[in-house]
Amino acid sequence: TEARALVEPRIALIPDFPEPGVLFRDLTPVFADGPAFRALAAALTAPFEGRFDDLGGVEARGFLLAGAASALCGAGVLTVRKTGKLPRAVLSESYALEYGMAGLEVHEGELQPGARVLILDDVLATGGTVGAAARLVERAGWQVAGIAVALELTGLGGRERLAGYEVYSLLQY
Ligand code: 5GP
Repeated sequence: TEARALVEPRIALIPDFPEPGVLFRDLTPVFADGPAFRALAAALTAPFEGRFDDLGGVEARGFLLAGAASALCGAGVLTVRKTGKLPRAVLSESYALEYGMAGLEVHEGELQPGARVLILDDVLATGGTVGAAARLVERAGWQVAGIAVALELTGLGGRERLAGYEVYSLLQY
């Protein structure tokens, strides 16, 4: 697709970041290119058109994708934040990362009961991050409409860990 052709050449590969042995795929050049960024945001919501009410943006790069997609389609944004940042009553989930541990939180009652949430992030690796976001959505009384990422690192078990959810990735490595 046009989105793939715009996005793929702008992903930078960084060996040994943030730790030795990790090949980090950096999407900041995609965000820095207006047409590529817009095409990416549109491509992530298109497969779910008419089937979601709000976008769940996972801090931090998922915020950019959710914000851009919101401007294109008019959906609200649920901010799925790292632990300790949200000021009101939260639900929390901790999870294992490809490298280390982390936690995510959402505000209780942020969306309407039963809202259908499309979760957005830049990269799907082990699925720990978006899996935690999906659990938060469900514990809060909303529904997971799907999970959409720019880039899926296959072979790390992410898609398997997310069995039961509809997962879309624009690019796979
Ligand atoms: P997972 O939880 O699926 O193992 O890892 C995905 C999370 O870690 C995402 O939030 C993503 O931003 C980050 N991540 C893991 N590997 C990479 C990578 O190679 N590039 C980027 N940009 N993010 C990564």
